[in-house]
Amino acid sequence: MGYLYTQGAARIVAEPCEYKHRFGGEPIHCIENRSDTEFVLHSLYILDTTDLAVPRVLPGRKWLPLYYPMFNDGAEIAYQVVADDSIVVHRVYGDLFTDLWEDYQWPSNRLPEHRIGVRPLSYDDQKTLVYGFTAAEHLNDDSISKGDKEYLRRCGYPFTQVGGIQRMMQSVPEQTCANVECKNCDYSNQHTVFAVVWNDPVPGFKLWGEYGGYTQIIFQMCPICQTIQVCSRCD
Ligand SMILES: [Zn+2]
Repeated sequence: MGYLYTQGAARIVAEPCEYKHRFGGEPIHCIENRSDTEFVLHSLYILDTTDLAVPRVLPGRKWLPLYYPMFNDGAEIAYQVVADDSIVVHRVYGDLFTDLWEDYQWPSNRLPEHRIGVRPLSYDDQKTLVYGFTAAEHLNDDSISKGDKEYLRRCGYPFTQVGGIQRMMQSVPEQTCANVECKNCDYSNQHTVFAVVWNDPVPGFKLWGEYGGYTQIIFQMCPICQTIQVCSRCD
């Protein structure tokens, strides 16, 4: 599990709403690349923070962008949202256009675009989710009540979640801040997990193909400079 319930939590849903949330499409930020690695940045989610259902994880910004370079297999990237229309990329690990997974059909430069919605998770929702995935790992099916099973089925867990307690397939990644100007750049394990994207971000589209069911893209944030660190993990 990743971290405490210290802020609002929400799940992404397929139903669009009046806010300009979206999955896929073009990145909306200009990129200043301070790393020495080339990459193609995929826009996973752009969340409109004027919607109060979006947890307040990035104060002072209109958009909460969840970006990741899908081609750089197993990549890690760190970017800082410095304005509503620009990001600075501080660090990228990963080789461009890897052929490690020969059978995998890599997505195109732009993921299919969908309007989406955001639904707040209540404290009880969070407890049900945490108990559900903990029981699935350590107990047996009978330990989950019928009502809880129905809730988990209805909300389609695992879904992309922002804020709250997240299921971690390989514990919380330890990161140092990639921003060399940040005093947190010498310390690890100080980065809060604020979002996790699973394999089925929108109906009918799988980020990692048929066998990526337990692959997650993990978004963490430096509490000092708000640099976002992103990596992928699987079971
Ligand atoms: Zn930092």
